[in-house]
Amino acid sequence: MDQLAPKGIKANRLAGELTIQWADGHLSVYPFSLVRAACPCAECRGGHDNMRDTPDPEVFTRPREDSPATRMTSLEAVGAYALTITWEDGHHYGIYTWSFLRALCPCPICRGEAAQGDSAWPKTL
Ligand SMILES: [Zn+2]
Ligand SMILES: [Zn+2]
Repeated sequence: MDQLAPKGIKANRLAGELTIQWADGHLSVYPFSLVRAACPCAECRGGHDNMRDTPDPEVFTRPREDSPATRMTSLEAVGAYALTITWEDGHHYGIYTWSFLRALCPCPICRGEAAQGDSAWPKTL
């Protein structure tokens, strides 16, 4: 059983928020604009060489915006390991794995861990 597998995923279009309830009890609430800013596809990352399995720290400091690019049209599971999201502007190339989404959690606890370089934090080199 994957510890990272979410127990529940909800997209609230009115609030513009994606909510993930994780198997370990953690709750992540992502503004859509954050999820879109962190889109892990090659096009958004600027090429395959820049693709990694953790979000760019810069996405957390970007201002929230409301545009077709940050409005979620649909959400689909990819097997048991990831989500794909279709945005109103037609973009749907990002594959958000559970570990990526967990690393993208904007809550103070997760951001604090990232800042301290907690060993549980997914590392890329
Ligand atoms: Zn993308
Ligand atoms: Zn968190």
